Formats: sequence, C-alpha cells, structure tokens
Amino acid sequence: MRTPFIAGNWKMNTSRAEAVALAQTVALRVGQQASVDVAVCPPFPYLEAVGQTVQGSAVGLGGQNMYFKDSGAYTGEVSPVMLCDVGCRYVILGHSERRQFFGETDEIINQKVHAALAAGLIPIVCVGEVLEDREAGRTQEVVRRQFDGSLAGLTAEQAAKLVIAYEPVWAIGTGKVATKEQAEEVHLDLRKMLTARYNASVADQIRIQYGGSVKPSNAAELLSQPNVDGALVGGASLAAEDFLAIVAAAQPAK
Ligand code: PEP
Repeated sequence: MRTPFIAGNWKMNTSRAEAVALAQTVALRVGQQASVDVAVCPPFPYLEAVGQTVQGSAVGLGGQNMYFKDSGAYTGEVSPVMLCDVGCRYVILGHSERRQFFGETDEIINQKVHAALAAGLIPIVCVGEVLEDREAGRTQEVVRRQFDGSLAGLTAEQAAKLVIAYEPVWAIGTGKVATKEQAEEVHLDLRKMLTARYNASVADQIRIQYGGSVKPSNAAELLSQPNVDGALVGGASLAAEDFLAIVAAAQPAK
C-alpha cells in the first residue's frame, strides 16, 4: 500500500511572514498524523524559516528546484547539499514552469535527479503534456519521452526513492482539471513504464501524484483512482484551509 503524498508548491509567492504563518497552520493541523505524507515547498529564501516552523510535525520541507552541482561558480543557483543543509527532504524537479520559462530539458532534469538522489533528497519529478499535444493525441508519447529522458540511468534501487508528478500543463494554474479518467489513464501508463523498466515491486512502491488545479472540490474524486497516489498542489496550497482539505481528502480515499 502506498502512503498518499500531498505536496504544496508555493511557487514565487508569499512574504516571509505569510510563509511562516501558512506553515504554522499546516504544521499545527497536520500534527503527527502518519496516514498521509505532507510537504510544503516554499521559495528558497524562506526555506529555513519554514523548516523551523514545521519542525516536530509530520510536515516535510521541499525545494522547488536546484542545480546539479554541489558547489562552485554557478551564480544564482542552489545546490542539493544546500537544500539538505536547511532541512529539505524533497525537491521538485522538471516542473513545467522550469521547462517552459527556464529552458530545462529532460537531459538537465536527469542530471538534477541523479544529483538529488546522491545528496539524499527525494525528487518529485514532473512530467506532463501541453494542450496541443493532448489535442493531437500525443499525450502518451510526450509523457513517455519525458519519463525516459528525465529518469535515464537510474537503478531500480534509486528509482524506488522517486516520486513522480503527472501534471498536464493545460491544467496547471488554469482552473481546468483533468478528469479522473484522464488522470488515471496516464498514471497507469506511468506505472506500466516503471514495471517494464524495473519490476512490479519497484513500480508498486513509487507514488505518482496528480497536479493541475487540484482543489478541495475535486481532490477526493482524483484521489479515488487506484494509481493516483497524491497531489502536487499549486494555487490551493497557498490557502491553509484549502490545502488541509486536500490532505483530508487523501485520507478516506486510500
Ligand atoms: C503546480 O504548479 O504544480 C500546480 C499543480 O499548480 P496549480 O495547482 O495551481 O494548478
């Protein structure tokens, strides 16, 4: 049985005070509960403050990105070692906004996945098609290419540590959510790719989150699908009550 995993991607939002207040509410209400894994991914400058705020609760801390080198002359970048140093357990890699606005390719994401695992971080690797691809019937092909490229060269042991997030780009921040059938179809495909590349036991362990306009009103339905193991939540993670309602929806569903 996979423990459902709900992660909040705060993107480039909140002030320091807002970040701490949001984290305080989430940590207080999630407490020590262990039936759902929960993480928050604040902007880099607030990682330490948010990490201190959630300390002692079951809420994990994640970065939204990182570079694949541990240190050096890479102005503006943040390393996996630094994320660990401030208490991160997770890092989101290959988010569609990184692919779209910052030119991240599957090759770059793959280097980041290897570096994150080497540092002991759990990568949340994002894949997903744009609207044009979905409308042209290329969803499976695009997701497979991103899967193959982003996860190249991982052993079964390394792969077992991953979290994958299926985030159809047309559903991110748009209010358009995939239907439960659309989500389940791609999640099942991903599970089959994992089984074919590794084995059934590794494929069974890996959590596959859905991301794209997840809200309290649609979370339970999406999470009811057998291969939807959680959610990567953007906009709704900025409102504590909405995020907590999504966490609650993950409980009875599994
Ligand atoms: C995201 O950015 O990962 C995301 C899913 O955003 P939203 O929930 O706002 O669509």
